[in-house]
Amino acid sequence: MTWLRRIALAFLLAGPAGAQEPRLTSDLASTDWARAVDVVILSEGYVRAEEQQFLADARRLADAIRVDPDAAPLRAGPPINLHFVFVPGRDRGAPWQAGRPARRTPFGAHVTPEGSFDADDAQADAVAAEVAPDVDVVVVLARLTPADEPIPASARRRWARAEGDDLDLPEDPDDVRPNADVPTDGARIRTTTLDPEAFLHELGHALYGLGDEYEEYPGAPPEDERWEVAVCPNLTLERTGRRWKDIVDTAYEGGGLWKKGVWRPERRCRMRESRADAFCLVCQDVIRGGREVDAPGAPEWTRPADDAVVLLPAGQRRLKLEPRWRHRGDAPVSFHLDLRRISPDGRRRQVWWDAVEGHARRTTFEVGVQKAGTYALGISAVNLAGESEVVWTTFTVRPAGATSGLVGALGEATD
Ligand SMILES: [Zn+2]
Repeated sequence: MTWLRRIALAFLLAGPAGAQEPRLTSDLASTDWARAVDVVILSEGYVRAEEQQFLADARRLADAIRVDPDAAPLRAGPPINLHFVFVPGRDRGAPWQAGRPARRTPFGAHVTPEGSFDADDAQADAVAAEVAPDVDVVVVLARLTPADEPIPASARRRWARAEGDDLDLPEDPDDVRPNADVPTDGARIRTTTLDPEAFLHELGHALYGLGDEYEEYPGAPPEDERWEVAVCPNLTLERTGRRWKDIVDTAYEGGGLWKKGVWRPERRCRMRESRADAFCLVCQDVIRGGREVDAPGAPEWTRPADDAVVLLPAGQRRLKLEPRWRHRGDAPVSFHLDLRRISPDGRRRQVWWDAVEGHARRTTFEVGVQKAGTYALGISAVNLAGESEVVWTTFTVRPAGATSGLVGALGEATD
């Protein structure tokens, strides 16, 4: 039995006469919409007479799911429905040159002056939701303008092209790099007909929240970007790889775009080499189970205890805390922490937040404190299925008195 019981259905959606109505063609594996993974592929840069061309291009893209041996973990999971949505535009081809404005295409795909491929997310989301029964990932599949298209100099002068040695600007249509948003950012993929090999890698981001395992930047991630590692189940900030020790006992330095300070599970993975290689065992584990996990339960605070008093040494303006918590049951992808100062009138203002890896049960942080006050620290567990409730603990920070005997000791103390 093939994994896909193909029921090809195509129907014309009702629309105002003369409007550029979207046409839906679906290859269905299941009509259990909630359980199935529904991949919606939108046409970009095609004109009215080119529906068959789009369907051929879209099915070639979808073959990454249907026949690529490296997609076996996806096929082992819930059934995958493919929905092809043809929306004709007035111009043939989306621009590939950095800074060239979007043309008259349905989703405004273009390359920004800095070189990233972009599209109108809101429009793509709206059309996908309108025509497909249930949407798990929205794909804008763009056919680009040809490399040798003649363009008048007057039109070229309108392009705002950024200059810089560190910018990776395309020199021809083949250089336009696909990209994706993880589920918590909307589960979208922007790609081109020229790069179907990268589709599986992008699905790793958009459907399963996997992070890039390759390196682009020297050094380690700065403090304010470490949370981006925490929310990716296939990356860690610990050289021991404790995060995935139940799956593999290896960790290789380099990942999440950074050469140092971030580790990945195995030497090779589809999330490291976008157009080749099988997924590593940790990514495979996420892909096999990722769509059917339950939302996590809420953690419990063990410290600071509710109503605790935290003493600051005289003259000290930094609050350093080491909060700890308990969590039972399924391992979340990450814990999200949120520190708020409570003003006398009861309003809460966020002063710090972070995300830490799902195996952690403690973290440390330091924030500037101007004066004594009351703070609330919230924590929630997050995975692909959702977020637990946020659990709060409230504590008071005040300067240590001369008689407290705790001057010089940072951290939590009960009164
Ligand atoms: Zn991997």
